[in-house]
Amino acid sequence: MQENIWRKDFPILETKVYGKPLIYLDNGATSQMPSQVINRIYEHYQKEHGNIHRGIHYLSEESTKAVEDTRELVKNYINAKNVESIIFTQNTTDSINIVAASIGLENDGGGIVTTEMEHHSNFVPWQQACKHSGRQFFVSPVVDGELDIDELENILKNNSIRLVACAHVSNVTGTVNPIKRVIELAHKYGAEVLIDGAQGILHLPVDVEELGCDYYCFSAHKMIGPTGVGVLYGKTDCLEKLEPVRYGGGMVDEVLEENTTWGNLPYRFEAGTPNIGGIIGLGEAIKYLMEHDVELIRKYEDYLLNYAYEKISSIEHVKILGHPAKRAGAISFVVDGAHPYDIASMLDKAGIAVRSGSHCAQPILRTFDVTATVRVTPNFYNTREEIDYFCQTLDKVINMLRKYSI
Ligand code: PMP
Repeated sequence: MQENIWRKDFPILETKVYGKPLIYLDNGATSQMPSQVINRIYEHYQKEHGNIHRGIHYLSEESTKAVEDTRELVKNYINAKNVESIIFTQNTTDSINIVAASIGLENDGGGIVTTEMEHHSNFVPWQQACKHSGRQFFVSPVVDGELDIDELENILKNNSIRLVACAHVSNVTGTVNPIKRVIELAHKYGAEVLIDGAQGILHLPVDVEELGCDYYCFSAHKMIGPTGVGVLYGKTDCLEKLEPVRYGGGMVDEVLEENTTWGNLPYRFEAGTPNIGGIIGLGEAIKYLMEHDVELIRKYEDYLLNYAYEKISSIEHVKILGHPAKRAGAISFVVDGAHPYDIASMLDKAGIAVRSGSHCAQPILRTFDVTATVRVTPNFYNTREEIDYFCQTLDKVINMLRKYSI
């Protein structure tokens, strides 16, 4: 595989931690930004910052244009049919909460299905919406890190279901779910589908038209953009049916003492001043990916993840969680005789950033009968040499921890 041609664009990767070169393998939590994105945000605040959709003055118009250009970029990036389908939110969690809270206001009585694989962000909002609305809450099972599609179909067949909420990619095992199949099944039984794309949007091509999903949610900060910005994609007919759950400026049509009517899509779901600089940063992140051959980026990521998988599996006492047919972004493992927190903190002292804990996904960890794992999530700016160094260090750390624990 060729040399890494993208790494030089990510200045943070030059950082030294405890005097050692940083090896950043926690991209599943948040990715790093290239200079192009950082500079674009800086430029926005230096030269064009004003509030959007409000003032008839130069700065307001420049900012509005930059935000609306980003909406168009997002639309094209995920192949949505309409810009009205692209709603800017704070993050994936916020996008899911908007849909869940709104569906919680309806009284059709249909159940909600999530899966054992979900991040808490795609679990708790639905659980709570069901609790408050009296809908039934179903959790479709996961076996060895993969969805049990037959069980999902049984739930759909035997109950009236309003919506299925499912991850594109698990943030724990890296399992790439057969979401096209999930969407087809849900539609067959009359349910809508929301896809949590937090871990899918960078590593996989996303074509919402082709997938046919009703909602797709993601965060800018997991796709080399800034924190504080997310996207809620919704089919326009689905969004038209949803009641807004956030009220205020920018989302209304007419405000009378006795009632208020809502503005058009997508603004109806964007109450208040959004994260203007962040949205513009997201636009620049998408431009970066498109201009730097996103297909090649994904091929390289696949290669690096497979390389890491092979090397980590060959380390003694390591057990990788799940063996999915298709994996993207993440490898989680436990070590016989060494706690994930101890491993992660010793790796940190060697300059290596990995994640340890439950990854906000307690239900799936329970299916493996563990409470914490170490998680490694490389991105396209990581290198084979970094994986080699990580594996050598991990091996040493395991030996040291096991020696003192026995
Ligand atoms: N879903 C998945 C699968 C995730 O990995 C994450 C982030 N770890 C989220 C949802 C939540 O993302 P955010 O914190 O950006 O809202």
